[in-house]
Amino acid sequence: MNKRTKMLAGMMLAGVTAFAGERVEKPNVIVILADDIGYGDIGCYGAERISTPNIDALAGQGVRFTNAYAPASTSSPSRYAMLTGRYAWRKNVGILPADAPLTIGDDDLTIAELFRRNGYSTALVGKWHLGLGSAERRVDFNGKIAGGPNDIGFEYAYFFPATNDRVPCVYIENDRVAGLDKSDPIEVSYKHKVGSDPTGKENPEMLTLKPVWGHDGTIVNGISRIGWMSGGTGARWNDERMAGELLERAVEYVAEHKDEPFFMYYAPNNAHEPRVASERFRGKSAAGIYGDVIEEFDYCVGELVSSLKSAGIYENTIIIVTSDNAPMIKEGYDDGAFENIGTHDPYGDMRGEKYSLYEGGSRVPFIYSWPSAVKAPFEQSRRFGFMDLKSTLASMLGLEMTEAETGDGADGSMLFRRPDAEDYREYILTQNNGGDIALRRGDWKYIAARRGAGAELYNLAKDPHELHDLSLACPEVSREFREWIRRDSLGVK
Ligand code: CA
Repeated sequence: MNKRTKMLAGMMLAGVTAFAGERVEKPNVIVILADDIGYGDIGCYGAERISTPNIDALAGQGVRFTNAYAPASTSSPSRYAMLTGRYAWRKNVGILPADAPLTIGDDDLTIAELFRRNGYSTALVGKWHLGLGSAERRVDFNGKIAGGPNDIGFEYAYFFPATNDRVPCVYIENDRVAGLDKSDPIEVSYKHKVGSDPTGKENPEMLTLKPVWGHDGTIVNGISRIGWMSGGTGARWNDERMAGELLERAVEYVAEHKDEPFFMYYAPNNAHEPRVASERFRGKSAAGIYGDVIEEFDYCVGELVSSLKSAGIYENTIIIVTSDNAPMIKEGYDDGAFENIGTHDPYGDMRGEKYSLYEGGSRVPFIYSWPSAVKAPFEQSRRFGFMDLKSTLASMLGLEMTEAETGDGADGSMLFRRPDAEDYREYILTQNNGGDIALRRGDWKYIAARRGAGAELYNLAKDPHELHDLSLACPEVSREFREWIRRDSLGVK
């Protein structure tokens, strides 16, 4: 079979509209991963004080998942699991500094590499946060950066290395810091101050945002960060323009690749701290700065969709919109979010937030749009863990993988096709930053015993707020979960 026939066979097998004689073009795939946006933050998930018309429009003609889970309640493990289809606790991936070694190894097949070897152009635009370089060869921000997105399947990458509250505050284009003046080299440390730039600790009078904890390192644009940096002055980003600049790169990529199939992982900085909206969005929402940066995120989604429409490729582009984990309203800065959020509830009335194993930590908005394939929009209430995105898209598009390459992933594609699909997994597993795990099955949610805390068991149907621990009252249910944990060697700690 040649590539096209194989593709056609794959799509027919998958039940995607493909009839004999009909020309089947590979769809483009864009995964839009927001940073710290919660279940209740989007209009079509109930937000009233934050307006997200562009995301709502995608949901209105696609599939809106009401029980979708991020793999983890923090960034790095969630992103690692989504890109590789493997549980992040297997590699002890937790929140990383920018100079941590690349967490994705030769044994991991990334979703980008899967698309690349199937004839797709592949790109990352936005947040990386999965490490750079290796333990033996630490990342050098002044030279060629080996061990980054280009090495694990992304042909093009324009990204910021860790988080927008961490140094170094620069973009990297492929394997070089963008716009770096060699005579002003970058130095980075997370242990001690480097260079002579003012810091939040020593020069609080220079700050526009007051740090709450751990964010009092080097000041960049009036905001002190986690860690210290010197140099790279002309290459530093501007927080107000960050969302717009990343959007620009994504739109450019679409224009340049409209005539070939592409896979783009678009990972904006919104709505992660420091929350800095551009002038256009400042004060726009009815939920303070918290809502402003989400409205700006929605605008970016809308602009990207417009660029697909102008390029004439919107109909045959799969768009996923989701978030890496839930937010924390007040975390590293006194940015007024907590004071001005009003009655808005980012957690959709669930217990927990970012870092948590409760529902509010990892249940996130998840929207799937593919206009030429989804003929009737619907809501999907079956649980979907988006660690399974790689296996699911592979199944939908007929991309082949070996068992080893599949990792921990499972094929959830039926959920994307039929509202009445059955569960595709025995249980859905999520984790916190430390690798503690929670499993969901049927009405039940089990949080495995962890350091300093025993196991917990909740009946989500009767107790959606996870207030009544039934682990002792329902020992047979707890036992069943423990048996799965033993059988599948989950969370080996
Ligand atoms: Ca995040």
